[in-house]
Amino acid sequence: MGEEVKRIFFVLSLLALLVGAGGASAAPIQQEVDAASSWLSGTLNSPVPTREVVLTTSMWHPDNIGEIRADNRLYLRPSWAKKIERHVVTSDELGTKTSYAAKVLLHEQLHRRETVFQCPGRREEMITDAMAVDLTPAFVFQVWKKKISWAQPAGRYEDDVIAFLYESADRAKTPNRENSRKARELRRKIWAMSCSQRDAILDRWGL
Ligand SMILES: [Zn+2]
Repeated sequence: MGEEVKRIFFVLSLLALLVGAGGASAAPIQQEVDAASSWLSGTLNSPVPTREVVLTTSMWHPDNIGEIRADNRLYLRPSWAKKIERHVVTSDELGTKTSYAAKVLLHEQLHRRETVFQCPGRREEMITDAMAVDLTPAFVFQVWKKKISWAQPAGRYEDDVIAFLYESADRAKTPNRENSRKARELRRKIWAMSCSQRDAILDRWGL
């Protein structure tokens, strides 16, 4: 190699190193998860630690878009990571806007370490997803700077999530228009509980 060529080669490898390091420490999807976690911590006034993201197409359940595994990392489908990075909002035929991508992001981060490993399954999914349904419109507005009017409950647990939303609204009933705020507060309280505390309440509610 001539001196000039060597110098160019050196500069190019240096550039590749810099670009590589920058990319690794700031993967866009990881930034999205970090941002969601810090927004949730502030909004819920309770620490919601961020998680390391791993992109994969092989899910524990074939319907899952994302899942928290025993290593406490967040496994996400690459196609959905892209939707999250692009802040995808969709409209139905009536023009009603929603964002399943934002809902998935919040849902996964709302799985608390203290419950997702201790009592995984239907109740954990129901409570976690109801919280994500409550919080997604505000998150999309405040963090993504976009507007949606509702968030869709999780497909596989949709009926359970809706039952929990209705039942908690009934149980929180007040004679004034605060009903919906009270219902959200009640759901938030249940979300923050231990597995056995949750079970005691949901047994009583027949959920
Ligand atoms: Zn889940």
